Amino acid sequence: MSSRPKAFGNLMAEVIRPKLCVGCGGCSAVCPLNSIEMAGSTPRLVSLCISCGMCYNNCPRTSFDKETLEERAFGAKGGESEIGFYRGLYAVRALDERIRERCQDGGAVTALLAHRLSEGCVAVVAGLKSNGVWEPQPMVVSTLEELLEAAGTKYTPSPTLVGVASAVKEYMAEHVAVVGTPCQVTALRRLQLGDHSEAKFSKALDLIVGLFCMETFDYGRLMEFLKSKGVEPKDVHKFDIKRGRFLAYGADGENLLRVKLREMEELVRECCHHCADFTSELADISVGNVGSPDGWSTVIVRSDRGEEALRGAEKEGLIEVKPLDEVEPGLEAVVKLARFKRERAKA
Ligand SMILES: Cc1cc2nc3c(=O)[nH]c(=O)nc-3n(C[C@H](O)[C@H](O)[C@H](O)COP(=O)(O)OP(=O)(O)OC[C@H]3O[C@@H](n4cnc5c(N)ncnc54)[C@H](O)[C@@H]3O)c2cc1C
Ligand code: SF4
Ligand code: SF4
Ligand code: SF4
Repeated sequence: MSSRPKAFGNLMAEVIRPKLCVGCGGCSAVCPLNSIEMAGSTPRLVSLCISCGMCYNNCPRTSFDKETLEERAFGAKGGESEIGFYRGLYAVRALDERIRERCQDGGAVTALLAHRLSEGCVAVVAGLKSNGVWEPQPMVVSTLEELLEAAGTKYTPSPTLVGVASAVKEYMAEHVAVVGTPCQVTALRRLQLGDHSEAKFSKALDLIVGLFCMETFDYGRLMEFLKSKGVEPKDVHKFDIKRGRFLAYGADGENLLRVKLREMEELVRECCHHCADFTSELADISVGNVGSPDGWSTVIVRSDRGEEALRGAEKEGLIEVKPLDEVEPGLEAVVKLARFKRERAKA
């Protein structure tokens, strides 16, 4: 007798209530009846459930065989490597001044996505809600201006997969490039190549750009914290994390806040304490700042598609590329944080 698939009720019991849900929106994206809506970062069942199991079986926080996904995505396993499987390590910087002015670090992400736009893709990025202050939301974009608008790091979560669903189902996009944090990347890979993948997404996903990520803050708690420090969120132009400090800058580059990350532990979302992936190990290409000098991005190329995107952007004159071993501090700094995150998740 075949057993009934695990459904939304099981997600509630095993992932959402125990605070393991990362708010990626994968369950909402994949539900064939559109019965799951995201209330901020929390999925809610708002209509009929036929217990098809798609939401449960594509969630990045239910069990899956990571090695199978690596084999399917890269033709190889990550093995013992703290940063997963990779075929190339680089320091990258955008050459377009407009990207350099707007981006978080070296602008590699915006430049890679700009290259995919010029090849006919749409991109899914994390923009900001127009009626909320610093509140991220997924956006489907098709021009460089829109990419620039969404550049820069938001340290609170965005339900990226809801944006991918919108690109595929509403915009009818056939080629979608997407950027996300490691947990979102895991959800994207399950949807694309997992045992319960969804054909619409498998076909449309063109490039998965993963970010490095140590943690995200709860949106409400971060806003309260800023106010408690005398910082009006609407005055902040850019947030950053550098050398163990959380920083906020105003429109003219003036420093509005500089606090030790240790002071902000209570703001970190519970799900992040259980997360072992620092470098988006299942992405086609991963990008972060640690490992490279200020103004450059560290780039880990993993798949053929990642390699093609890097070389395509270079050929288009969008980026400058150096081997990572030609810059300081290089790979060891990335490995150190990746190792730390894995150990933290075990504790
Ligand atoms: C929550 C978070 C934590 C991070 N922690 C680290 C870290 O500890 N160490 C490290 O080296 N790097 C970390 N990064 C990555 C780093 O902040 C930069 O995003 C990365 O270096 C790329 O820089 P860039 O100039 O190429 O990006 P840009 O060209 O500015 O593009 C950034 C892209 O990321 C998208 N984005 C921004 N915020 C989010 C989000 N919350 N969810 C999904 N997409 C988003 C934007 O829409 C934009 O398209 C983190 C990123 C995030 C989002
Ligand atoms: S119908 Fe399927 S995907 Fe939708 S909530 Fe139920 S089990 Fe989940
Ligand atoms: S798919 Fe994402 S949003 Fe849905 S329950 Fe799992 S982690 Fe949460
Ligand atoms: S630490 Fe993990 S769970 Fe938290 S936002 Fe980053 S990738 Fe997602």
